[in-house]
Amino acid sequence: MVTVTRDGALEWMRRFASELSEHREQLVRLDTAIGDGDHGTNLDRGMRKALEKLDGGEQADPGTVLKTVAMALVSSVGGAAGPLYGTFFLQMGSALGSDSEVDLPRFAAAWRKGLEGVQMRGKAEAGDKTMVDALIPGVGALEAASDLEGGLRAAEQAAEEGMKATTPLVARKGRASYLGERSKDHQDPGATSTYYLFKSAAESLAG
Ligand code: ADP
Ligand code: MG
Repeated sequence: MVTVTRDGALEWMRRFASELSEHREQLVRLDTAIGDGDHGTNLDRGMRKALEKLDGGEQADPGTVLKTVAMALVSSVGGAAGPLYGTFFLQMGSALGSDSEVDLPRFAAAWRKGLEGVQMRGKAEAGDKTMVDALIPGVGALEAASDLEGGLRAAEQAAEEGMKATTPLVARKGRASYLGERSKDHQDPGATSTYYLFKSAAESLAG
């Protein structure tokens, strides 16, 4: 049985950080179109800080890895995304408790707790053109899966579709909502970074 271990969680966070650094300009461009242009730099800086914290400490289990990332993001990233991603990782990490090996049902349930935290904090629903539009289908795909590897691949694909489907939407939450109809025809930056979260999970945890 494939499970998520502390080393797996560390690898996931390293890959997420490297996706964000690789795609920083894309995320800046997307956020310049419908926001203030800081999404790529914000998250890249935040995950660099998170990796420093991870390198400087010994995390006993996957939950502690994610909670460490949450603290780093909350303390180093302003704007909407810092607190939202911080909440996501904190809720997800707390849901994992101190388990040293996490199987698919428990992993999927923890993603669900993370999503619920984001929605509790940001009040975004499906179709509001936010990171939630990538999280909802991705988490749903994980919950519907019968094995971790297949689930992670399906979740990556579902999140990618959710990300792309934000393009025609009118934003109803966050800065982009100030643009009203003019937010149409642009892919949401937060849904795009969330797609990278699923992509990095599939690449690091799918056996
Ligand atoms: P800011 O808008 O404060 O500059 P960022 O640019 O870092 O923050 O992040 C913008 C992204 O945050 C958006 O693309 C969107 O996906 C996400 N976002 C904004 N507000 C919310 C919210 N209320 N709920 C969920 N996600 C949100
Ligand atoms: Mg911004």
